Amino acid sequence: MKKSNSSVKLLVIITIAIIGLIVALVLLNNAKNPDGAASFSNTPNIEGQPIIGDKNAPITVIEFGDFKCPACKSWGENIYPQLEKDFIDNGNVKFAYVNVLFHGVESQVGSLAAETVLKQSPENYWAFHQALFAAQPANQRHDEPWLTAEKVLEIVSEIDGIDVEQFEASFLDAEYVSEVEKDVQLIEEYEVNLTPTIFINNKMVEDPFDYEKIKSLIEKELEGR
Ligand code: CA
Repeated sequence: MKKSNSSVKLLVIITIAIIGLIVALVLLNNAKNPDGAASFSNTPNIEGQPIIGDKNAPITVIEFGDFKCPACKSWGENIYPQLEKDFIDNGNVKFAYVNVLFHGVESQVGSLAAETVLKQSPENYWAFHQALFAAQPANQRHDEPWLTAEKVLEIVSEIDGIDVEQFEASFLDAEYVSEVEKDVQLIEEYEVNLTPTIFINNKMVEDPFDYEKIKSLIEKELEGR
């Protein structure tokens, strides 16, 4: 069967690429603020990442997330809409998403699919992003596979405006694996070790589900600019 062979090839390519990735060791001033947020010397570079909101917004909020992670699905459904309403819609915050690959092959499949949509059909990226999180089964256990190449192709074919054949060819060939590697470098550089991890500019939020704290950190950044 062509498709499963291609999928296997795809996974081998990604796995080799990620294992082979040499991450530069970057020294960062990583200190805890009184408000509980870890502070880095720079805001993570979001060039080439999917961004929602005004690209010139003064504050950058970044989610390091994983389509396979139940807490990320919950964050997107419960915390993100508040952020959007309070800060993105009015142009104060731009929001970017970086892939984290803590759940093995399924995280690799999800992140490569997302990078492929972003490259080929950027205007449909967020529709795909939301549809993939929506497809995550409620109450899943981490070890129950659902994020497969077949599932990704099914979702892509349901979104108007994505060229499914072009997507399938690039996706199964892992054409944009270097974009996934770029995200892995950011994860290492910014010491991300759980998902979701939320950055507000150069500050890593201690509890991503404490929206009041997120709100006050953003307001502080807005005052301080
Ligand atoms: Ca990315």
